[in-house]
Amino acid sequence: MKAIQIQSIGGPEVLKLVDLPIPEPGPGQVLIRVEAVGVNFIEIYFRKGTYKATLPLVPGSEAAGTIEELGPGVTGFKAGDMVASVGVLGSYAEYALVPAAQLIKVPSRLTPEQAAAAMLQGMTAHYLAYSTYPLKAGDTALVHAGAGGVGLLLTQMASRLGARVITTVSTPEKAELSREAGAKDVILYTQQDFETEVKRLTGGKGVDVVYDSVGKTTFDKSLNCLRPRGLFALFGASSGPVPLFDLIQLSSKGSLFITRPTLWHYVATRSELEWRAGKVLDWAVTGELKLRTEFMYPLAQAAQAQIDMESRRTTGKILLEP
Ligand code: NDP
Repeated sequence: MKAIQIQSIGGPEVLKLVDLPIPEPGPGQVLIRVEAVGVNFIEIYFRKGTYKATLPLVPGSEAAGTIEELGPGVTGFKAGDMVASVGVLGSYAEYALVPAAQLIKVPSRLTPEQAAAAMLQGMTAHYLAYSTYPLKAGDTALVHAGAGGVGLLLTQMASRLGARVITTVSTPEKAELSREAGAKDVILYTQQDFETEVKRLTGGKGVDVVYDSVGKTTFDKSLNCLRPRGLFALFGASSGPVPLFDLIQLSSKGSLFITRPTLWHYVATRSELEWRAGKVLDWAVTGELKLRTEFMYPLAQAAQAQIDMESRRTTGKILLEP
């Protein structure tokens, strides 16, 4: 089978197309024929060595496809089922293994592309809006990178919950997409000082919650955008890791709360995984959640997909097609 493999850490050029044997499912595992691969920022962190992995590595964790073969002991699924998962072992490939415990059946009205586009970023948006800081009508949220994959989905969920959503984006085109997703106010943080703008937009009050996936370049000012006892959810580092932080600042800036959440702790049990995935896939079927899948690349162009993601050229979901 064709797969993308990394033999050393480095730039996008280390993502090589190789031929590998089709893996065999072990106990509790399922072999899927991958039809759509979700590209996520975490693969860039692994490629660069920010997160450590054993090499050689076939990157990726999110995919949708068809079950080819069940490993020993797997029940509840059969060959031919269309499934999706955020727990695929090496999804940048034509075939991949998934622990059955991580597998979700895809509603028949969704394509593999839609399923792969919804799962990881959709469940991330879901846990941020429903669990990390459960939004309610009247809340105000600041969402950075509002036209990104998570950003567009989080904005849709937050505004449906009745929250007022303020987003930041880098270009007027992205601002338009963010508005379409439900943002009430959009700040071009490459041209405007977003802290000043947020204070102006909230009449000096500040927001109830900041959802920050950008990290290094937004962290300090985002803290100043919160109301007293507001919550800071730092869930990514697209611009780089945040600087070391003295907790006393939480006190002086208004008895703030801060958390650094990750999806895995919000889908740790089968019931929570089924709940979040079920909601997100159902909303994709009904159209309550609009998926943006403009950025689709052949598997062999995985390096280009990562280059485009890193250089802020993409909006919505990035997919690879084996
Ligand atoms: P995005 O589609 O949001 O892409 C990243 C965006 O960040 C860019 O499009 C860009 O938007 C913005 N950005 C700002 N500064 C930079 C910079 N210096 N370099 C690159 N991008 C920058 O990606 P995803 O939606 O897939 O993921 C968003 C973040 O959330 C990632 O950091 C990812 O790791 C994290 N994440 C965390 C999860 C968790 O559970 N903790 C789960 C899923 C994702 P603009 O041009 O508008 O500035």
